[in-house]
Amino acid sequence: MTHPFSPLTTEQKKELSSNAQRIVEKGKGILAADESVGTMGNRLKKINVENTEENRRFFRDILFSVDPSISENIGGVIFFHETLYQKSKNGKLFPELIKEKGIVVGIKVDKGIVPLAGTDGESTTQGLDGLAERCAQYKKEGVDFAKWRCVLKISDAAPSSLAILENANVLARYASICQQNGLVPIVEPEILPDGDHDLQRSQYATEKVLAAVYKALNDHHVYLEGTLLKPNMVTPGQACSKRYTPEEIGIATVTALRRTVPAAVPGICFLSGGQSEEEASLNLNAINRCPLPKPWKLTFSYGRALQATALSAWSGKPENVKASQEAFVKRAKINSLASKGEYTASGATDSAAAQSLFTASYAY
Ligand code: 13P
Repeated sequence: MTHPFSPLTTEQKKELSSNAQRIVEKGKGILAADESVGTMGNRLKKINVENTEENRRFFRDILFSVDPSISENIGGVIFFHETLYQKSKNGKLFPELIKEKGIVVGIKVDKGIVPLAGTDGESTTQGLDGLAERCAQYKKEGVDFAKWRCVLKISDAAPSSLAILENANVLARYASICQQNGLVPIVEPEILPDGDHDLQRSQYATEKVLAAVYKALNDHHVYLEGTLLKPNMVTPGQACSKRYTPEEIGIATVTALRRTVPAAVPGICFLSGGQSEEEASLNLNAINRCPLPKPWKLTFSYGRALQATALSAWSGKPENVKASQEAFVKRAKINSLASKGEYTASGATDSAAAQSLFTASYAY
């Protein structure tokens, strides 16, 4: 007996697990294009483009209108609420445009982070109120998966037991509500790279956080086969003086995951977390080449590390649309290769792809 009061029917489970598997099919990852209006504003500011609804739509149109062969590399796209109702220049709703390419449509459903009082600047994520209704509505609009980001940090006092427990529990509540409404939950407990900690400290914190997340998901009867995990890679703190190779990062990451993430989870889709585009690709490649047994797909769900060069290539100028699309397609292909451990860097990485995308205390 697995559940005395089974929370999902056999049909519901089948739909959830088949959608989760579709998103992370071999060679596919996720485009995280769910930046909130404020975050998108910060990105646009860097290229001197005003943060208007039309400019946000225009850039998303660039990404979403690329050749349908992008579906060989991208299995899912995460939208922000506003984008779900916007149209391409040809008048097609964005979710339709994505679905036509055979890509699964997802949506960010959390409402951002809030401080956990009495901690060293730690946080929890809000958005459970009305979540079931929002999920039901999104499902009607063609959405099949969701994302909720929790944020943890490393310091002398963090991650605290309170932050670990609270964030694990809110992720589990969110995941349970999503599944009840037919959405595959992406569970994202991001540990920020801020700090000067070494790789071992990062691995230790990642193991503690993930172990608590999977305990909570089990307590909340979440159907793991119908979920995806979106963790940080195990990397040293951004201010750590010691440098590590992608191989060392690969082993630390896979070791932490093997100790904590059940084999029932179909896919682990890493966030890029401020790494440069090239670093994020090389590290994903090393993770996939790590010789330890890996029972899940290990792929990407990148925001910054899939869009940075495309965004600067565009720079708000309509005549740059093609160059911007080419940059996006190129990076998606590289990450697709990395998700299979087949990426060999040419050694001639352009400077934009090597640029750090780190932002202190990153909010989304
Ligand atoms: P980055 O890849 O830019 O870290 O963002 C991914 C994401 O979706 C964070 O929630």
